[in-house]
Amino acid sequence: MSPGVTARTRVFAVLGHPVAHSLSPVFQGAALDARGIDAVYVALDCDEDRVVGLVRGLAAAGGGGNVTLPHKERVAAILEAPTPEVERTGACNTFWSDADGRLAGDNTDVTGFRGALRGLREGGGRGARVVLVGAGGAARAALAGLVDDGAAEILLVNRSADRARALADRLGGSRTRILDDPRDLRGADLDLVVNATRLGLDHHDPLPFDLALPARVGAVFDLVYGAVPTAFVEAAREHGIPALDGVEMLLRQGEAAFRRWFGDPVPLEAMRAALAAGA
Ligand code: NAP
Repeated sequence: MSPGVTARTRVFAVLGHPVAHSLSPVFQGAALDARGIDAVYVALDCDEDRVVGLVRGLAAAGGGGNVTLPHKERVAAILEAPTPEVERTGACNTFWSDADGRLAGDNTDVTGFRGALRGLREGGGRGARVVLVGAGGAARAALAGLVDDGAAEILLVNRSADRARALADRLGGSRTRILDDPRDLRGADLDLVVNATRLGLDHHDPLPFDLALPARVGAVFDLVYGAVPTAFVEAAREHGIPALDGVEMLLRQGEAAFRRWFGDPVPLEAMRAALAAGA
C-alpha cells in the first residue's frame, strides 16, 4: 500500500475536458499502490487556456501525467523533449520532466495500440493487409503503429476524405492508400479491420464497417471501449472473426506511461484488475 499523502508525495494527473469519465486514475492509482510509490494520480478538468500551465507546473514539481481530448495536440506543441512518436503524430498523451529538467512527452497510444494488437494477432500488424476506418486522433496512433509493425498494405477509409488524405500524407508512408468507397472491398481478402472512428460510443450508432463485404476478415480491432462487448466486436464474433475492443489498448498506453514515469517493473496485472473492477 502507498504510505498516504506526505510532504514528499508527487502529483500526477490526467488533463482533459471532459475528464470525469476517465478510468486512468483507477488503474494508475492501483499501480502506484502495488509498487508502493509515494505519489497520487488524479483527474483535472481544464480548458485550453489552463492546460499548458498545469502541464508545466506538474512536471516542474516532479510529477507528470496524461493528456486526453481535446488537448493532445496543444501539449505536443509546447514540449522541450518530444519522443519521435510525438513528432510523427503531432500528439502527446504522456508528460514528465526529464533528467535535465526539460518538459518531455511521449505518445503512448502508439505503443498501446501495438501492444494490444499483438494479443489479437501474432506479430501485430506485420505483413497484414489492413482496413483502417477513421482519421482522427486514434487513427493517427493506429496508423503509426501499423506502419511501425510493417503492415503490407493499409487501406484508409473515412467519412471525410480530406482528413484521410491529410493523415496518409503525414505518416502513411508508401504502403497506405485512401479507399474512397468501402464497397470496392467486396470479395477482398483482409487480415485485419481496425475501427478508429467514434462509432460505437453511442448505443444507436451504425456499425463502422460492413464485415459481410470482404470474402475474409482475419481479425477485428475496435478501439472503442465502454459497452462490453462493443457492437462492432459483437458483429465480428457473429461472423466468426476474432475481435478485441479498446480496453486493452487503454491499459497498454497506461503501462507505457507508467514506465516513462517510474521505470520497471510495471504492475500490469494490478492495473488490469483495477480496470476490470472499475470499468
Ligand atoms: P476524433 O479525433 O474526434 O475522430 C473521430 C473519428 O470518427 C473521425 O474519423 C470521424 O470522421 C469519425 N466519425 C465520427 N462520427 C462519425 C459518423 N457519424 N460516421 C462516420 N464516421 C464518424 O476522435 P478520436 O480521438 O480519434 O477517438 C475515436 C475513438 O477511439 C473514440 O471512440 C475513442 O474513445 C477511441 N479511442 C480509444 C483509445 C484506446 O486507448 N482504446 C485511445 C484513443 C481513442 P470525420 O473525420 O469524417 O469527422
